[in-house]
Amino acid sequence: MKQHDLDTICVQGGYTPANGEARQIPIVQSTTFKYDTSEDMGKLFDLEASGYFYSRLQNPTCDMVAAKICALEGGSAAMLTSSGQAANFFSVFNIASAGDHIVSSATIYGGTFNLFSVTMKRMGIDFTFVAPDCSEEELNAAFRPNTKAVFGETIANPALKVLDIEEFAAAAHAHGVPLIVDNTFATPVGCRPFEWGADIVTHSTTKYMDGHGACVGGCVVDSGKFDWTRYPERFPGLCTPDESYHGITYTERFGLGGAFITKATAQLMRDFGCVQSPQSAFILNLGLESLHVRMRKHCENGLAVASFLQNHPKIAYVKYADLLGDPDHALAAKYLPGGTCGVVSFGVKGGRSAAETLMKHLKLAAIETHVADARSCCLHPASSTHRQMSDDELMAAGVPADLVRLSCGLENADDLIADLEQALQAI
Ligand SMILES: *Cc1c(COP(=O)(O)O)cnc(C)c1O
Repeated sequence: MKQHDLDTICVQGGYTPANGEARQIPIVQSTTFKYDTSEDMGKLFDLEASGYFYSRLQNPTCDMVAAKICALEGGSAAMLTSSGQAANFFSVFNIASAGDHIVSSATIYGGTFNLFSVTMKRMGIDFTFVAPDCSEEELNAAFRPNTKAVFGETIANPALKVLDIEEFAAAAHAHGVPLIVDNTFATPVGCRPFEWGADIVTHSTTKYMDGHGACVGGCVVDSGKFDWTRYPERFPGLCTPDESYHGITYTERFGLGGAFITKATAQLMRDFGCVQSPQSAFILNLGLESLHVRMRKHCENGLAVASFLQNHPKIAYVKYADLLGDPDHALAAKYLPGGTCGVVSFGVKGGRSAAETLMKHLKLAAIETHVADARSCCLHPASSTHRQMSDDELMAAGVPADLVRLSCGLENADDLIADLEQALQAI
């Protein structure tokens, strides 16, 4: 069958009801599943038959929604997780262990930076952070013999730097490792990283995919294109028997298309249990049904607001890659030709305190630790999400102390601009 357009996958992907079945995806609110014989269940435990036995590992509702996101990204397999944090943790920990090393873009979400530089470092995994616009030489110099992956964000939160996916993928592949891309801000409506050479995609579905500030969630998608079996010593977890799972060799049993996600499910989800609930998956799917429609409006509002701010005398700078003259404009035009996202970053003249005054006076955009919601919201990262960082680290992460992150929702653009205008007057 012809691959449907993304708009159609948003609405109908992941679930096709049979005759007489529910039109909307069913919420299978059950921890467990019943079998007639122990033999039947044994086959599931041995991964010899597919089916459900316990919702910590897999649940039909979650699988339907994962299948939709998988189709949207053009992947081979996908899994939902409890949050974006869990998705990014799984994507890296599935192939890296104590003694291993990862190359990561420095401009990544504050929570991911913390996960990598503090918590995963405690687990013995080392990270080298590189500027997303570093030279090819700098990028190549970051690799070590024990490097297992490269990580970056399509559109960095909150720095809004656009990743040169092709360049990062080429460097990763030249060193025999996959490129993992967190595609949260772009969503597959804006960019499909697999088409540019990325191997694994992650999402915080909490953001645009849900889009209504209703449920925390994450997703990991595999392209199925990275050939782990070319480097069996580098990826023993995928290429040699898993003694903790009946001696299965994931690449042999599930092929390149299934190995990564099956291993992440059978090992990491089994042991860490970061599952998304079927209720949350159902709510997420409601968001996905309108993702393509909403993203266009978020982008329209983002561009209108960024253009207004760019010309305002009280604004020091605006960071929005769709603006002509933005340093990332060419990358945005290449990777995100339909628009980047609704998030605009800017600095207010007068620094920290002026930024705080502005935010206090905004009436439509509420102060929230959130982005990518139908309702506009704003945040001062240096005093919230990124407060663990030193001023130097803030600068390296592309989040100077005076930066305000404004997430343009789905309201009328003129109303958003009028709200900003009156708040800027108060400074
Ligand atoms: C929010 C976010 C995360 C973390 O996701 P949660 O769902 O909050 O755990 C990871 N990456 C990016 C780019 C994000 O914006």
